[in-house]
Parts: sequence; C-alpha cells; structure tokens
Amino acid sequence: MVCKSSLTKIFKEVTMSDKFKEAAQNLCDDERTIALKERLDYVDATESGIIKQILGREGKPLSNKQKFIYQTKIEPTLVEKCGIQGCEKFVPAGTGYCDSCQIEYVE
Ligand SMILES: [Zn+2]
Repeated sequence: MVCKSSLTKIFKEVTMSDKFKEAAQNLCDDERTIALKERLDYVDATESGIIKQILGREGKPLSNKQKFIYQTKIEPTLVEKCGIQGCEKFVPAGTGYCDSCQIEYVE
C-alpha cells in the first residue's frame, strides 16, 4: 500500500509539471520572448546561454543537450499561475496576472 500511495504522489507531480509544460508550449512568440527575458535573471550560466541563443538573431539551432535542458529546466518555468488566488490560468513568467484578473482585480 505504501508503494501505491507514493506512486500516486509521483503521478501528481508529473501531471502538475506537464500542465506547466503544456501552457509554456502554448505561449505565442511574443509571450515566450517576454518570459525568456524574465527568466534570464534567475537561471545559471548554462541556461542563460541557451536562452540568449534562442533570443539571438542568428537563429542558431540548439544542440540535443541544449534542447534537453531547455525542455526540462527552462520551458516549464516560462509560465506561472495567475497571482490571484483560485484562478487556474497560466501567464507568461513575470506577467503576474491573467488578462481577466488584471481587469477585474488589479486595475
Ligand atoms: Zn487570473
């Protein structure tokens, strides 16, 4: 039984990060650029190198290792939950609130 409950826990964590990943993949280019720039301040040197390469004008493709780091470490952090409690929407990192909460609660 112990095994079963720990599996459930792992499954929940996976589902959670999958939601973030899915939301991050749904960002449009502008939103992704905003989020990537926002993340630059918080990531380590390897990750910031990857972000700069993505944002760069050369369009140099990422190596497989860089892609792996991007998909596992950077992409899920490009979105965050809307800052209004109870709101389930995702927003680009650094944005704070989703559009409807922004109108309803913030302005
Ligand atoms: Zn919201």
